[in-house]
Parts: sequence; C-alpha cells; structure tokens
Amino acid sequence: MPEIPVGILGATGTVGQRFVQLLVDHPWFKVTALAASDASAGQAYAEACHWLLPNPMPIAVRDFVVQPLDQAIDCTLVFSALPSGVAGPVEEELAHSGAIVCTNASAHRLDPDVPLLIPEVNAEHTALIEIQRQRRRGSGFIVASANCSATQLALALKPLHETFGLRKVSVVTMQAVSGAGYPGVPALDILDNVVPFIAGEEHKLEGEPKKLLGRLKKGKVEDAPFAASAQCNRVPVRDGHTECVSVELEHQPSVREVIAALEGFSGSPEVSQLPSSPPRPVLVTEQDSRPQPIRDRDAEAGMSVIVGRVRPCPLLGLKFVVLGHNTLRGAAGGSIHNAELLVAQGWIA
Ligand code: NAP
Repeated sequence: MPEIPVGILGATGTVGQRFVQLLVDHPWFKVTALAASDASAGQAYAEACHWLLPNPMPIAVRDFVVQPLDQAIDCTLVFSALPSGVAGPVEEELAHSGAIVCTNASAHRLDPDVPLLIPEVNAEHTALIEIQRQRRRGSGFIVASANCSATQLALALKPLHETFGLRKVSVVTMQAVSGAGYPGVPALDILDNVVPFIAGEEHKLEGEPKKLLGRLKKGKVEDAPFAASAQCNRVPVRDGHTECVSVELEHQPSVREVIAALEGFSGSPEVSQLPSSPPRPVLVTEQDSRPQPIRDRDAEAGMSVIVGRVRPCPLLGLKFVVLGHNTLRGAAGGSIHNAELLVAQGWIA
C-alpha cells in the first residue's frame, strides 16, 4: 500500500507529540506537515516544540517548518490535536475542502452526523460519514475520538452492556496531569494534592459513552439507555487515568462471568487486523493492588485498558477499576487507530 500523507494540527502539544512519535514509523501513514499556533509557526519543529516524551524527538521531523493554521495543509488525512475552542471551525473548513479529519478535540464529538469512534466498540458508526458528506456538501469529513476518560470507560462497559445490559454507571476518576496538556496544571496546585474538578469533564464522561455504545438506526445513533454519573479528579500522576466504576446490570452475573466477558471482548476480525489493534483491548488483572498507572499504563503499547478489582458492589451490584493511557489509547493512539479503520473500510483511498 502506498503511504498516505498526513498532517498534524497542534503538533507541538502533549497529544501532538504522541502523534509524531506514533506516526514516524507507521506502515500506512507518512507525516508531511506539522502545524501549531502562530507562536510556533515558521520555526523548525525542534525549536518550537518542548519535547516531553522519554525517547528523543525523531530525526525525521526535527527540521520540519511548523505551519500556521491559515496555510493550506496539503494532506489527504489530518490529525487534529488542537484545543477545542480553536478546533471547531478549522476542522469543518478542512473537511469542506476535501480533507479527512481525525480529531481529538471535543468540538464535533456529539454532532449527530460525526462518528464518535472506537474501532472495537462501534466500527459500524462510520456509516454516518455518508450522511455527513451529504449534509455538509463536502468530499472530506470529520471523525472524532472520544474524551480520554470516556474511551477507557467505554472499552470496559461495551462487553458488559452487550452481555448483561447496562442500567446505571457511577464513575469516579483519578486523572493524570498530562491530560491537561502542556504546561497544564501548575506544580503548586497538583504536587501533594488532589483537585476535585476538571472543567467540562464530568459532562463528557456522562454523555460520550452513551453515544459510543449507542445503536445506529436509520442514519442516526440512538444513545444507549443507561444512566451515568461521573466525578472527576486531577491527581499527581504523569500519565494514565484510573477510574473506579460501579454498575447496575439487567442480569446478575457472577464475578467469574464478568471477567470472562471482559477477557473475551475483541473487535471484529477486520478491526483485529489493524496495525494499532492490541491482541486484546481489555486485559483483566486479578492482583488485589492492580491496576496501577506506573505499572500498567503501557500495556500493549498503551492501547489496552486494564480492569482489576472486579467484585460485588452492595449499592449497584458490581464494581471494578479501569486504567488506560490517556495520550495513547485515550488520544493520539486512538485517533490513528480510527484512521486505520477508515483505510480498512475504504473511506480513505
Ligand atoms: P496542549 O498540550 O495544550 O497542546 C495544544 C496544541 O495546540 C499545541 O500544539 C499548540 O501550539 C496548539 N494551539 C494552541 N492554540 C492554537 C491556536 N490558536 N492555533 C493553532 N494552534 C494552537 O493540549 P493537548 O493536551 O495536546 O490537547 C490537544 C487536544 O486533545 C485538546 O482538544 C484536548 O482536549 C484533546 N485531548 C487531550 C488529551 C490528553 O490526554 N492531553 C486526551 C484526549 C483529548 P503552540 O505550541 O504553538 O502553542
């Protein structure tokens, strides 16, 4: 397959750097353009970007000149890691001019004609693309990744919903500082501390999983009909969000049956073949003190989520902990995975 040229918007940020790291050796995609704010535009990527990842910045991108957003991005496929306030109109204009936009920003996630996609969870939602193209009258389109906390929650909930039926979900998060971007939360606010508020996050976590687990009917996604309540906290962890989840199910499975459903979960055979698909999207640990961010966040290159502490809940019936890597599965890795699905389904030639 010839390599598909891709651009990255917000390439200097926390998620943008993950895109760069994951795309330099990608078998299908080749980075040809990097864009960021006017403060970075015109500089070499190595100068403009305060590289945060453990391995050095890839040599292949060091000398790329960072583009401003108002310069044409000549790529078939554009990954967006822009702040949501900026992303909305920029992504629409790109799609209108023929680009395929895979975005991490929240601006279009709940648009009725935009697939909010996790390949193992709802690959069939890409059917919305045709409706989007007709409505917006452009050849390009937008596909969104979910919020990082919603992504890992939806991966754990999907097999439970399919097998036992979800009625209620209560989730309390402990979210890493990299989720706030760079420079993010000031050190004096987060060291030795827990901040029990993340702007807009609870609303996303209560809403997005319903669309992700929803059914496609007559060209629309009908939200999955469970009630959800979220409480979100920022904690002094670098990467990896931890969520304590309680669920009420229609059936009353044993802990063993729940573990079997989680471990047996996989995407369709088409999804399993994608380059970024982990062998199993949900891993289950039965060690009492796991999952832990520092030990488990990089499981399967950060593309699997880890569920542990599966046990009965006296209030809702079942409780467990789920951990996921917020900038890998929860952001850049998830978006690249979506783009791979679009290639496999023939939406990107
Ligand atoms: P970040 O570290 O603050 O990076 C923001 C990026 O956008 C930088 O490249 C910045 O460029 C660029 N930018 C800012 N304002 C701009 C403007 N007016 N015009 C053009 N470019 C502009 O943020 P992040 O954490 O990477 O998040 C990026 C997006 O992903 C957000 O929508 C966020 O909600 C979403 N997301 C983040 C995570 C996560 O774990 N961090 C997870 C899921 C989704 P300069 O360097 O030039 O300022």
